[in-house]
Amino acid sequence: VFDTYYRDSWVEVRLDAIRANIRELKKHLTGKTGIYAVVKANAYGHGDIQVAQAALEAGADALAVALLDEALRLREAGFTVPILVMGWVRPTDAAVAAEQNISLTVFQKEWLETAKQQTFDGKLSLHVKLDTGMGRIGIRTEEELQSVLEAWDEQSFQLDGVFTHYATADEEDTSYFQTQQARLEELLASFAKRWPHPVHIHTGNSAASMRFPEKMHHMVRFGIGMYGLYPSHDVKEINPIPLYPSFSLHTTLVHVKELPKGESISYGAVYTTEGPEWIGTLPVGYADGWIRKLQGLEVLVDGKRQPIVGKICMDQCMVKLDQSYPVGTQVTLIGKQRDSEISMDEVADYVDTINYEVPCLISSRVPRMYL
Ligand code: PLP
Repeated sequence: VFDTYYRDSWVEVRLDAIRANIRELKKHLTGKTGIYAVVKANAYGHGDIQVAQAALEAGADALAVALLDEALRLREAGFTVPILVMGWVRPTDAAVAAEQNISLTVFQKEWLETAKQQTFDGKLSLHVKLDTGMGRIGIRTEEELQSVLEAWDEQSFQLDGVFTHYATADEEDTSYFQTQQARLEELLASFAKRWPHPVHIHTGNSAASMRFPEKMHHMVRFGIGMYGLYPSHDVKEINPIPLYPSFSLHTTLVHVKELPKGESISYGAVYTTEGPEWIGTLPVGYADGWIRKLQGLEVLVDGKRQPIVGKICMDQCMVKLDQSYPVGTQVTLIGKQRDSEISMDEVADYVDTINYEVPCLISSRVPRMYL
């Protein structure tokens, strides 16, 4: 469904690229490993429902999100596959999750004690999180594992998975990754002593699943790679599988003028024309997530790179053009025009961040169009 918009800045999301990335990973994994499509944070800014649909069509088995609210949105949209919430959820909200058959993550005995005071519609599906070195959430020791399993109530809870998350799987140096793997093996061994039933294990993010497919267990949690982006420059260089970017950002020129030498542009008058210059105005600014630090980065007009000049405003910014162009000319901020490209990685590098952050920053004010 295409809503009507009255602005000329938009994101294009290529769902065929999302599908191709899932297929590439699937080819690369051993046949026994399934795929969670990680669609938290509105699918890294790409659109949760559309991406989830495309990923499942291409062979993903389940969905993973960070928040219960995100999982509920997907259930509401009609998805019936398993959905895992990977972050902490209030134990007093456990019944909401159970009612919608949403799996939650557990790692505290107090959580189980509070959660089991509720009555569930069936059993609540839980995955146990192990902290093998990320230092974020999860069980770190055999004693903690013991206390969580002691608080387990078989009437209320169903154990559907055990998982961990890697902190450095995207780095060329694999030593810390190996440390985490060794801790995982130890914790899994103590788990197996106390839990005689078979359980699904999932560990790999994009970096681990692309680099070490043979080390993956029952499932991987595939996020950034599904969007066609490599988790780091190191992994891009290693290039374990081909990936196809799906996100591009476009706008149009809304005003074009020729200024003489010595005229200033935007707040603070920090940019001044050095001679006669063509200046174009773009209807996109920091309220769209096109943050002020992007001043000076280039955009594509007519397949050519042209720099952003002056400070980026809340809703607009200016570019120095090599010539006059008509109002309405398409401008690409992220993506390709003919043989030129401003990649997500280039934008991320320019503001000293990672590619993950850039599409998350592009605000909901910018409509997403699906191709
Ligand atoms: N698993 C967990 C617990 C995560 O927090 C994330 C995202 O950060 C992922 C998997 C997906 O990671 P990636 O996007 O690197 O594939």
